[in-house]
Amino acid sequence: MKTTFEIAVFDGDGIGPEIMAPTVDILQTLAGPSDYDLRFVDAPAGAAHYARTGESFPKASMDTARRADAILLSAMGLPDVRYPDGTEISPQIDLRKALTLFAGVRPVTIRPGQPTPLATDEPIDFVLIRESTEGLFHTQGRGEVTADEARETLLITRAISEPLFKFAFDLAKSRKAAGRGPGKVTCVDKANVFRAFAFFREMFDAEAAKHPDITADHAYVDATALWMVERPWSFDVMVTENMFGDILSDLGAGLMGGLGLAPSADIGHDHAVFQPCHGSAPDIAGQGVANPMAMILSAAMMLEWLGGRHDRPDMAADGARLRDAVDTVIAAGTTRSRDLGGTAGTVQVATAVKDALA
Ligand code: NAD
Repeated sequence: MKTTFEIAVFDGDGIGPEIMAPTVDILQTLAGPSDYDLRFVDAPAGAAHYARTGESFPKASMDTARRADAILLSAMGLPDVRYPDGTEISPQIDLRKALTLFAGVRPVTIRPGQPTPLATDEPIDFVLIRESTEGLFHTQGRGEVTADEARETLLITRAISEPLFKFAFDLAKSRKAAGRGPGKVTCVDKANVFRAFAFFREMFDAEAAKHPDITADHAYVDATALWMVERPWSFDVMVTENMFGDILSDLGAGLMGGLGLAPSADIGHDHAVFQPCHGSAPDIAGQGVANPMAMILSAAMMLEWLGGRHDRPDMAADGARLRDAVDTVIAAGTTRSRDLGGTAGTVQVATAVKDALA
């Protein structure tokens, strides 16, 4: 009998439902002949939901997320829909905090044929891990603002940093075993200026000492921004604080030729959310032109994560197959969405990936 995995689906706002539908279709196609089943459970939330119902993240949707084996999320938020305090609706951030999804995994891969602003033929394939529950986001929504001053607090804890660094070294190890990296972890911080980052680095070094087979090094965040442009091939796994990671992951997406190709995962001890790095792109919503590849690549990461977690090499292999199918479409260069300089619509791109799988 097939094992069934429940997937909570947040199809969100703007282009969210447009990129989620073909992704779920591809996952169903993959699961069809396999030994596993995927049961998709809709979880309404987001800005449009808030505008309609006055509720941005219904309890039932949070329950669905907690119960699920994995969570697929497209994008949430609309710039014109805000809470009375002026902030945006962002259940994806609520999820990171509620489910303690401390490891924000942001792969930066430049595939053959992928448009990139970099003038290099060097293969680029590294992973940025952004801590996603504390750092400078600690007081998010609670910062103190007076007429003359504003304050936010940066928080670094041992309870989060130690498993974060363990996750980074384990990832470097599995990438090395798969031939995808030399086995190196770089701690990105600002330990030369802030005591909090000296504390961060101290915990990194303690974890590094447990992994003699993996190279550990350090870099300041400002220099890292430069090196990501000058010599991005020199990175393997990078790990950093929440706000630094927020900024560097968009730089990574820029190297990849745009947000349309940038997948991500937010992983904790017991739960994980898989979603593209981009937002709801209200400027192109409803036109059927959004690039679904970041969403599809996030779904591939989900299959690989489920495969590792449940000792299901077949699911991990399907994740890798899906990634390869996206690579094939990019390398062929014949079906490109608008953001990559082509004319193909969302459905055309997703169909090309599905054909490549076959
Ligand atoms: P955005 O990522 O939505 O869009 C930035 C630009 O990239 C736009 O020009 C858009 O058309 C383009 N783009 C994004 N995804 C694309 C895709 N798949 N295919 C083709 N082009 C794509 O960022 P924004 O405009 O700053 O934010 C819009 C809304 O999304 C805001 O409400 C914001 O808060 C929200 N947001 C949500 C998330 C999330 O859910 N994780 C992340 C970032 C922004």
